[in-house]
Amino acid sequence: MATLTDKKRTKSRSSGRPAAELIFGNLWQFDPAPETADPKLKARYDLFIGGKFVAPASGKYFVSINPANESKLAEIAHAGVADVDAAYAAAQKAFDTVWGKMPGKERAKYIYRIARLLQDRAREFAVAETMDGGKPIKESRDFDVPMAAAHFFYHAGWADKLDYVAPGRKVVPHGVVGQVIPWNFPLLMLAWKIAPALAMGNCVVVKPAETTSITALKLGEILQDAGLPDGVVNIVTGFGDTGAAVMTHPTAAKVAFTGSTEVGKIIMRSLAGTEKKMTMELGGKAANIIFDDAPIDQAVEGIVNGIFFNQGHVCCAGSRLLVQESIADEVLAKLKTRIKVLRVGDPMDKNTDLGAINSKEQLATIGRLVASGVKEGATMFQPECKLPAKGWYFRPTVFSGVSMSHRIAREEIFGPVLSVLTFRTLDEAVEKANNTAYGLSAGVWTDKGSRILKMSTLLKAGVVWANTYNKFDPTSPFGGYKESGFGREGGRQGLLDYCKLV
Ligand code: ADP
Repeated sequence: MATLTDKKRTKSRSSGRPAAELIFGNLWQFDPAPETADPKLKARYDLFIGGKFVAPASGKYFVSINPANESKLAEIAHAGVADVDAAYAAAQKAFDTVWGKMPGKERAKYIYRIARLLQDRAREFAVAETMDGGKPIKESRDFDVPMAAAHFFYHAGWADKLDYVAPGRKVVPHGVVGQVIPWNFPLLMLAWKIAPALAMGNCVVVKPAETTSITALKLGEILQDAGLPDGVVNIVTGFGDTGAAVMTHPTAAKVAFTGSTEVGKIIMRSLAGTEKKMTMELGGKAANIIFDDAPIDQAVEGIVNGIFFNQGHVCCAGSRLLVQESIADEVLAKLKTRIKVLRVGDPMDKNTDLGAINSKEQLATIGRLVASGVKEGATMFQPECKLPAKGWYFRPTVFSGVSMSHRIAREEIFGPVLSVLTFRTLDEAVEKANNTAYGLSAGVWTDKGSRILKMSTLLKAGVVWANTYNKFDPTSPFGGYKESGFGREGGRQGLLDYCKLV
């Protein structure tokens, strides 16, 4: 237990009295709380084409690794051009013969069944997601899997109401759509992509990211159990070459991509001049803005959630903290105190706050950008937490004294690294927040409703959260401005990106 002598005092703005800080030191330790559900992994995963698991034509497989301990999880098929052709042929056939002709209310039943089956196997999927990607089990259990199911439920609800989605207009599916998704929310991004496409009556060829293919292939099992007609969804695994084949295939009437801005640009260049419809959800460098009248303790929780959720592997992460100068010292002090008690380590432990970095390559990228922050003169803070000896981990990191020209203020780090900048006026906050190539999300913390409304119109970001951060809901459209991409996912707007209006 903490004693009185363990209490440190920092000045509190709200009460004017010093705030007590409990220092637990090593007095309170958490016992290990490992999640033990069976993820029911196979030793080898084939491609899911035409409703069946099939070996890749090339016979090539690659290994998926658990980033928490570097152990081998499973072998994953590497799809080549012939496999992608087969997937598109299956999708086109399913569209022409079954899915494109099926009334929406019948499609809804399949999508609803997928959601229910996913709920039934929720814990198993959460464990698989955590082992494959490194995110804390409490996040995959409480966020990724339930939110993925929620997207299927939501879109099942739309499938028989498409006459009302665009009043006065008729909606027609594109046909076959190609989709490529990233590794940060593997199952959730799959749900974001598949659910609206199916609800609208499209068939799909989708490629998961190379480091996190397992839950997509497990979803293939659910699609079989749901009796989804063969070929409606086809899952091809592999690297960038497979992704490029999916994006550029002549059968794809529309493509949807979530990933880095760099790869998004390559895809857009390769599709320029074609008839393909595109939606792109790319990188971000969001400003999380704290005004001096904000509820500071809540804001600190929001800052922590904004940058350390999923180890900062979040395109909408609040990676730039803009704090009003008059409260900057207090916010920074409270933030450091909070970060010191974050638990970093085994993602399968139910008490872990920050799990493993998804890959060795990503760990190196984070390391490089953090080194640039130190070199360019920003002040780095990291708590002294002990990291596991094996696996890929990075301490939660806060840089203060950052200026707009620093690389850590401009480039997407995609890791648990926060850059703190200050501002004096609302105009300066807006100027700094918008001074970026990106425009995916932003956060505003203030007591004033009118200021929230003003900020949300001035900030050039697709999503602006007020007095909260990282809030998601299938009914709410998500997407970017500028180099963060275009098109929306979720809500009516997301659905409309999967149809032609006639
Ligand atoms: P991140 O690593 O930030 O998620 P990437 O853009 O590298 O972003 O990866 C996102 C997805 O894009 C992954 O599934 C990856 O395999 C795929 N990919 C990589 N290069 C290409 C490409 N040239 N064309 C299509 N997809 C690609």
